[in-house]
Amino acid sequence: MKYIISERHYIDVLLPVATEGVYTYRSEENVAIGRRVLVPLGKRNVMGISLGAVDKPDFECRDILSAPDSLPIFPVIWIDFIKKLANYYITSLGQTFHGVISSKVIASEPPEDEFNRETFPLIPLELTEEQRFITEKIPLTGFSVHLIQGITGSGKTEIYLDLIKKVVAQGKQIMYLVPEIALTPQLIDRIKNRLGYLPAIYHSKLTDNKRNDSFWRFVNGEQPVLLGARSALFVPSSKLGLIIIDEEHENTFKQEESPSYHLRDMAVLYSRMNNIPVILGSATPQSESIANAKAGKYNLHFLKTRPGSSELPAIELVDIKKSSLVGGIMTEYMYDEVARTVSKGNQAILFLNRKGYATSLFCRDCGALQQCANCSVALTMYKNSGRCVCHYCGTEYKNLKCTECGSEEIVDAGFGTERVEELIEQMFPGKSLRLDTDKIKTFKQMNLLLEDFRKKKAQILIGTQLIAKGLHFPDVTYVGILGIDNILAIPDFRAVEKVYQLIMQVSGRAGRGESKGKVQIQTFMPDNPVFRYIKEEPEKFYEYELSRRQQFEYPPYVRMGRLIFSYSKEPELKTVTENVIIRLKNEYPEAVFYGPAKAVIYKIKNRYRLSVIIKCKTNKYLDELLYQSGNLFGKFKTGTMTMKIDKDPYFFM
Ligand code: ADP
Ligand code: ZN
Ligand code: ZN
Repeated sequence: MKYIISERHYIDVLLPVATEGVYTYRSEENVAIGRRVLVPLGKRNVMGISLGAVDKPDFECRDILSAPDSLPIFPVIWIDFIKKLANYYITSLGQTFHGVISSKVIASEPPEDEFNRETFPLIPLELTEEQRFITEKIPLTGFSVHLIQGITGSGKTEIYLDLIKKVVAQGKQIMYLVPEIALTPQLIDRIKNRLGYLPAIYHSKLTDNKRNDSFWRFVNGEQPVLLGARSALFVPSSKLGLIIIDEEHENTFKQEESPSYHLRDMAVLYSRMNNIPVILGSATPQSESIANAKAGKYNLHFLKTRPGSSELPAIELVDIKKSSLVGGIMTEYMYDEVARTVSKGNQAILFLNRKGYATSLFCRDCGALQQCANCSVALTMYKNSGRCVCHYCGTEYKNLKCTECGSEEIVDAGFGTERVEELIEQMFPGKSLRLDTDKIKTFKQMNLLLEDFRKKKAQILIGTQLIAKGLHFPDVTYVGILGIDNILAIPDFRAVEKVYQLIMQVSGRAGRGESKGKVQIQTFMPDNPVFRYIKEEPEKFYEYELSRRQQFEYPPYVRMGRLIFSYSKEPELKTVTENVIIRLKNEYPEAVFYGPAKAVIYKIKNRYRLSVIIKCKTNKYLDELLYQSGNLFGKFKTGTMTMKIDKDPYFFM
């Protein structure tokens, strides 16, 4: 008798699909965990990752088509990290894998040619004593978190570059993550000057070829430094030595789509798993991070001075209620300063926040922002109906009277950059440029426009958030902030902090050169504590903000989650949402529920959206509740209805 012994292996494969995403396949060879495998899925072929061999299952398995690499690309730590992330954000493993790394990158071929490194002359720089003091306190091995709170232009970037050099010298790799890819051209130059070569660049706006190339050059160790946006954290490395996150407070670090992870929090987790240091930097950290520092989880370092002579600008508050307005939008004080700056041959920046929100309701008599009595977040007016609503708890206010003084004179103070540009064009013809996402569609356009401003082809730059950070124009001596009150009108418990951050960042644009700068903020509410702190003692702001959060029970003092139900049919959506929430409320009596309420943006692509905000005392309780919400939703849902789970939410629209 003749025996045919055919060895078969059964391999679990992680696939980038919206389900759990782990399927078992058959293979001639054992495919080690972390190797890429090409497998059939339905009628397609999909590239996934081996999760290692398992026992022969009692169902038929399809065959692995190929395993293109001889060695694992994804380290075991990376796979564990993805599992932890999925777990934390209550998202399936397949969806998580799909949401953190592009399928195109995973399926791409590693380049065959050897990496050809171009080198550049080094331009050394000596750290100041303040900078050196910090670098010496950051250990280069073992897990630790460092939050560098340094005013704009204080030299945080030079600290990062110094540490990068040292970690590269140990033969390890570095991830340098930034919120805004627009900032990278200046940054790439600086990295080049300090290291003598260019970093690999990784973000979603690159061409496929460039992004794939960066991926592989980092994965195979040819490139030690990876500079990128959020997605760069998921480029695997088996010799990671340091993660740097600049501008750690930026909202762009929170991913909106599932999994709704926050890059900073995940980078801290990943660093702990890799047993390496992680550095967070910002002039205006998030209050959550300051709280973490106070709790001893993060090491806090301060940079209080700017190298060289440049001083922080003086900040002045202008009360809109007490000034006549030029063109209905700009106080005469601000107008005078712009005129003075222009006549001296200097440059001015006019900043306003316009994004996201059209209405912002203020009392014309006392200047108070109109807020919900239950939630302490701004109310929204339905267009032209006179009805106001709180998008946290759903409470409606008819015939709104000022919550502070009872006046019926409630005004909507929303206006945009175009109106400011129109006014400035009338007053100072041919002297201004406007920068916002309506006008500027590409980074190239943006850089050209900024280059024009740098060359002083215009003296006044009008813009939104886009101009708030990173820019360095020595001749800008004046910054005027209009319409910052709008932000306080966004129904978001972080709005106060956002105002603080934006003003501090924008102010940092003034007086970067020889002469001291001036910043003016025009507001309905000069007595609002946030402005007082900014003007008088900015370093005390966080105490105020954290005590405010504690008082109104907002993170980090409670754990928050948000559920967004969405469907094309309003009545069904309402019924299902209520069914889920009633049961959740019953099963989780210790949680506090806000809503269901219509989301600020109630209808997107013909789908209605209901929002429920949930506060719990502990992460564990919130997790159980959110898992259960998934189960309940699965039971009640009809048609194409969806429910998005957003843990630690940042967006409340
Ligand atoms: P931040 O990242 O905190 O905004 P940067 O690192 O960009 O600050 O530094 C601001 C400016 O000061 C840059 O032009 C930088 O080159 C310069 N600078 C930083 N550190 C030093 C130093 N030690 N000596 C001289 N110039 C410095
Ligand atoms: Zn009032
Ligand atoms: Zn409310």
